[in-house]
Order: sequence, then structure tokens, then C-alpha cells
Amino acid sequence: MELKGCRGFAGWYSVLTLCLLSFIYMSSTSASEEDPPSSSSAAIISRFQHYLQINTVQPNPKYHEAADFLLAQAKSLSLESQTIEFVEGKPVVLLKWPGSDPSLPSILLNSHTDVVQVEQHKWTHHPFAAHLDSQGNIYARGSQDMKCVGLQYLEAIRRLKASGFRPLRSVYLSFVPDEEIGGHDGAEKFAKSDIFDDLNVGVVLDEGLASPNEHYRAFYGERSPWSLVIKATGAPGHGSKLYDNSAMENLLKSIESIWRFRASQFDLVKAGLKAEGEVISVNMAFLKAGTPSPTGFVMNLQPSEAEAGFDIRVPPNGDPEALERRIAEEWAPASRNMTFRLGQFKAKVSVLDKSGRPIITATDSTNPWWNLLEEAVRKANGKLGKPEIFPASTDARYFRERGLPAIGFSPMANTPILLHDHNEFLNKDEYLKGIEAYESIIEAYASYVEKASGGDGSRDEL
Ligand SMILES: [Zn+2]
Repeated sequence: MELKGCRGFAGWYSVLTLCLLSFIYMSSTSASEEDPPSSSSAAIISRFQHYLQINTVQPNPKYHEAADFLLAQAKSLSLESQTIEFVEGKPVVLLKWPGSDPSLPSILLNSHTDVVQVEQHKWTHHPFAAHLDSQGNIYARGSQDMKCVGLQYLEAIRRLKASGFRPLRSVYLSFVPDEEIGGHDGAEKFAKSDIFDDLNVGVVLDEGLASPNEHYRAFYGERSPWSLVIKATGAPGHGSKLYDNSAMENLLKSIESIWRFRASQFDLVKAGLKAEGEVISVNMAFLKAGTPSPTGFVMNLQPSEAEAGFDIRVPPNGDPEALERRIAEEWAPASRNMTFRLGQFKAKVSVLDKSGRPIITATDSTNPWWNLLEEAVRKANGKLGKPEIFPASTDARYFRERGLPAIGFSPMANTPILLHDHNEFLNKDEYLKGIEAYESIIEAYASYVEKASGGDGSRDEL
């Protein structure tokens, strides 16, 4: 682990870029002749565009460029900052707004700085231009996932500071690398570090998903990703021969069994009995079989081996042991010459914590942070939908594994879900509304005092 101090902020080049962007924005909107004040919508959108224009696409994200930009923002807000490299070249930017009572558990606002790859030719606008169209849509990779959230935290703090608000609890912001490739060198190492322990975190906010309707979505848990590879072996034979137990036949029997299970889970979703995040999803990722020839495959030969790979997602209330049994007995039974490997490509993440309980964050009166969030969103004129299980994985799981409440929340209502898709965009008005939501949430969280109920309270609220 390497510890570094503040890297200094963006040099003249970035400042120039920012000015240039502001200029382009203003001349296209002709909102004002002068530089907008930092609190104006034009300046807020310009900062968002600047962050989006930093190319942090995997597998070679420009992490230091993003870090420099974030540190410059922190400086302009007089936030304390440090850059930590648990793995060289992969900075975690950690900012702090100190609370007046450092003995109280703190608030952590987490976001990742990397974005997923793009198929550039399928985009209408360049994915790193952050083009603002006439409808106010800002097109960029990361506009939804999740550079919006990272900067909204900062903009909310800018507004709270301007209003004279002083936090009681310390507010930390972590900007972590590598979420899109599993978060192992980012949030995972951060959450397990002594530095993290010293923050005395009481609650974490992390990413959610856009909502096509007027209700914001909030996530209290997520499914655990498993990868399953099953392999069939059987006697090879001439392509013309009918015989039992060929590798292909054995594999197909398994695939049929897996597909019946998949349909049973999907039926629950289709019937409206369960949400997508509440069922076990299984999807085939690859099929590997056949004997290659210079022109394709040898056709008059039945191969002796065949393999298939599956992406499986297990909800926190799923039964991982029952699923493993099912795999061993039905999907890859030794009696049919089958073997299997689990977690070959991705670590098989547990859905249970150390004491065997599902890793979820309570969304009832036992969790004051949930109630505060609901109330704060309402105060900001936002609507919150029913809490959900995140269908895929986020860094929030590393914080939940520590036993901390973590809520996935990206305030994007009336927005199509375009994360990882072509032409990812976010409307600027929706972005601005999200800042108001965070302003309300951060204010509520940072001033929260546990009602006296015996004990020192600090443990109870965890
Ligand atoms: Zn994300």
C-alpha cells in the first residue's frame, strides 16, 4: 500500500480546458456574457461535462487525471483531501468535510471513477465529448454510471456550504477505481483497510440505477455473481454413429435442465411475483465444443469434450447451498461424466455475512438511515420507489460485508436505464434535481442525532 498526499491540482491545461468548456457552454446557451458564478446551473453543468470528458474507460482509465480534477474541486470547497494508492496507479481520492462532533459515526459517500468500454461507432455523439443537445441531454459514458453521482455529492456540499450549514457528523467522499472490473483494487481494499477503520463510518451511500418513471430507485442489497463452467466428457465416435453418453449429449441434458430452472425463475418475474433482483438468474455465456478444422469444424466426428459457461446471480435471500447441490446433482452430475467449476472468472462472492445472515441493509424502522433517506428525498420533492435488490454487483457489497448499512441510490427519475449501453445520457435538469436530493440527504445524515435509548447509541445505529 502506498500513501500519497494531495497530488496538487490540475495544471494550467485543465484550467484552460475548464474555461474553454465554460466558454463553449455559455456561447451555445448565450445565458450570460460573463463567467458564470460557481453556483450557477451553467457552471454546475460545465463541471459535470469536464468530469465526463476525462477518459477513465477500462482497461486503461486516466485515473490521475480524474484524481487531479477531483482534488481541484475539493480545494475549491475547502475539503480535506488525500490520495491513497492501495495498488500503484489506482488512486482512491478521499475527501473529508469534518463534523463538529468527531466522536459520532461518519457518513461515507462513495462513487467509482472508472467507466465501461464503449463501441464508439454506435454512439451518436462522441462518448467522451459530453455533448449537450437541444433537449438538455448530456451524452457521455459515465453520465449515469456513475460520474453523475460523484459530482452531485460535491455540488450538494457546495450548496450546503454556501447556505452556512455545518455538519455534526463528518462527511467523507471516496472516489474509487476499478468498480467496473470487480473493485478488488479499489473499494474492496479500501473497505478492509486501517484507513477505513479510522473513518468510523456509520452509513454508506453508493450507486443505484436510473428509473424510467417518476420514482427514484433505492437498493438495499445485491445479488452475488457466480460463474459456472460445466464440462462433459464422453466417448468420441464417428459422426454417423448413434450411441449413448457422448459429450454433446451429456452437455445438452445439462443445458436442458438449467434452462428449465431458468424458466421457473423468469416465470416468477413475468408473473409479477418477484422482482428481477429477487430471483436466481442464469444465462449462458459461452459454448465450447467441436474439433476445429482449417475450414471450420470436423463434421464427421463426435467430440469427446464439450463445455458451457453460465453467468449466475444469487439474491441475498437465495440458498447458495441448495444451488450448489443442484449444480452437483442435476446440472453437472458425475453420473453423466460431468464436472464443474464455480467462480473461475469472477470470485464467487458470498451472499451471507460472517454470522450467516443475508448481506442486506434494513429498510424499515430498525435502520434510521433508511427513514432519514426517505424523508430527505420527500423534502426535496422527490419520490422514492419500493426498495430493491440490485440485479448486478456494485462496490456497496464490500461495505455491507463490513456490517455497515449501505444504500444504492442514483437520483435519476424519468430517465431510460442506459448504463453500459450506447448513447448513455442524463438530462441536465434531472442532474440538477439530483443535487437537491443529495443536499437534503447529506444535511439530514450529517445532522442526525440518535435518540437517547440507553447505551452510547453509536453502536446501536450500526
Ligand atoms: Zn457503476
